[in-house]
Amino acid sequence: MNSGEQLCLACGMCCDGSLFDNVRLQPEESAEDLKRLGMPVKLSRAKLPVAFLRQPCRALGEDCACAIYSQRPAQCRSFECGVFKEAQSGAISYEEAHRLVKQGRRKADKVRKLLVATGETDEALSLGARFRRVQRWVQRGEVDAEAGASFAALGLAMHKLDLFAHEKFYTEEDA
Ligand code: SF4
Ligand code: SF4
Repeated sequence: MNSGEQLCLACGMCCDGSLFDNVRLQPEESAEDLKRLGMPVKLSRAKLPVAFLRQPCRALGEDCACAIYSQRPAQCRSFECGVFKEAQSGAISYEEAHRLVKQGRRKADKVRKLLVATGETDEALSLGARFRRVQRWVQRGEVDAEAGASFAALGLAMHKLDLFAHEKFYTEEDA
């Protein structure tokens, strides 16, 4: 296994809903092929619907390996985050890349814990989608005082994750 593969297997954040809400399929990609592999392909509600896979992705294993690696969507094949690119190019060491990945995962874990503290426990959705759901609850006055207090901390943790993702992980096309 090469250093880049080792880095991604220690991370998984571009598949587990920490950085993205979904993976869009290209028009020429077959949703049926992915469905046959057991992947739950959804359709957007736009006028021209786009097929996508929700994140956290069902194909992501606990070891961060992709269960459909050889048949993964084009978006997955082409994506390389900023940390990965910098390590590959030698701009940063792999040791530094692993440190950044650990830092990112800690920030995402903090968001996960605070989501649960606000009563949001749907692990089938991305962190962003879960956070927006809690925001709607707060706007509608549907949270008790304890959950409301956790919401303030959640907002800050989400903001910190977002800033870190923009600074280190997203490339210009993703931002
Ligand atoms: S976010 Fe970057 S380092 Fe992490 S799995 Fe994806 S490409 Fe690899
Ligand atoms: S299909 Fe594989 S590479 Fe693509 S998001 Fe899912 S786990 Fe990640």
